[in-house]
Amino acid sequence: PGGVCAEVRRPCRFLVLINPQSGKGQAQAMFNNHIQHMLQEADITYTLQITERQNHAREMVREADLSQWDAVVIMSGDGLLFEVVNGLMEREDWEKAIQTPLGVLPGGSGNALAASIHYYTGAQPVSGEDLLVNCGFMLCKGLVSHLDLTSVCMASSQRLFSFLSLAWGFVADVDIESEKYRYVGAARFTMGTLVRLTSLRVYKGKLAYLPAEESQFPPSPAQPVSFTNDSNSSSVHSSIHSHLSRNSNCQNHLLHNSCNSNNAHKPKFNGQPPVTTQGPPDSLLVPLDQPVPAHWTVVKEEDFVLVMAVYQSHLAEDLIAAPASRLEDGIIHLIYVKAGISRQALLRLFLAMEKGAHLSTNCPFVVYVKVRALRLEPYSPKGTITVDGEVVEYGPVQAQIYGRLARIIAG
Ligand code: ADP
Ligand code: MG
Repeated sequence: PGGVCAEVRRPCRFLVLINPQSGKGQAQAMFNNHIQHMLQEADITYTLQITERQNHAREMVREADLSQWDAVVIMSGDGLLFEVVNGLMEREDWEKAIQTPLGVLPGGSGNALAASIHYYTGAQPVSGEDLLVNCGFMLCKGLVSHLDLTSVCMASSQRLFSFLSLAWGFVADVDIESEKYRYVGAARFTMGTLVRLTSLRVYKGKLAYLPAEESQFPPSPAQPVSFTNDSNSSSVHSSIHSHLSRNSNCQNHLLHNSCNSNNAHKPKFNGQPPVTTQGPPDSLLVPLDQPVPAHWTVVKEEDFVLVMAVYQSHLAEDLIAAPASRLEDGIIHLIYVKAGISRQALLRLFLAMEKGAHLSTNCPFVVYVKVRALRLEPYSPKGTITVDGEVVEYGPVQAQIYGRLARIIAG
């Protein structure tokens, strides 16, 4: 349904990145058993790269000659795709680089994007190896859709691009605490949720957002572009440039506003030289040290159990956080749970989320709004914020969505 903007031509070449540590540590064997033959039959040749460490994939795609590849495919969880997306956005030629079709094969324990693209096809839900085989077929079909990306800015001026989620509170804690249960695969989130419920707590902070209906234009390229490179890419360039000229101040401010955060959780990219911030300027955001614009909504509650901003349907293979979300709806689905909810009610909520039914339970503690941008300012000096399931610098954070910035093989 909708959305297909191109097809990968044949024969073609994929770069396949495999994280041998993801999930139960069997990604490579699963690729060999289930995917290899499928790709061969579809006339897809590929180069396999096994990642050696964290950020290896990020560095590889940052430096790669992308003209060699018709798509970059990851066989891992969402974490490896997060590396690829950010590696592409860190390139000087990010506008072109981020148009490289991406592919996902679920080989991790958190395979939310793979589960989401399967869900968008309308097919019956599947998991594990069945989901892998389905995603393999999608690669073989080679239909390319647009994918929204969200720009996430931290107090240190670090900026990340995200395809899945921004989370704080219960969900972020479960995300990270459950990494030690990776050996159980996708069930790690259920285990983590049950453990965390026993130590349920309140997270204090300030939340504000720009409602989707308030913003006149979603920041997205004006026209769809075809996959066959150069001929059409100028339309994207010009629309991004009109964006640039509309607002260039925020970007500068963010670049020059630097301060260090020292916190208990080690930020993901500690120790790496900061990469020049690339990408479109955040036209909906004002600097973090200034109040949010007057037309934003400031949430009056300041006690939360969780805040999650998601831009795909699934948060894990069996958690449908935003059932209405689509690949290129240009919307951040903001869901927060206010303090005061009982353990039982929260458990019911997570059980309902397995079917995506949690938003229609009329639970008075749950709020769901569609937004284009948001800001979160936690009050406590320590804590966890995750982006696409990865720990990032803790502290004030704001984000805005870009419709159709990237491309993904889906459908
Ligand atoms: P999972 O779903 O099992 O968590 P991910 O794809 O999210 O799988 O990867 C988990 C983490 O491993 C991510 O933070 C990713 O950046 C990191 N990573 C990638 N390649 C390697 C590697 N070769 N060794 C260790 N960690 C890696
Ligand atoms: Mg992960």
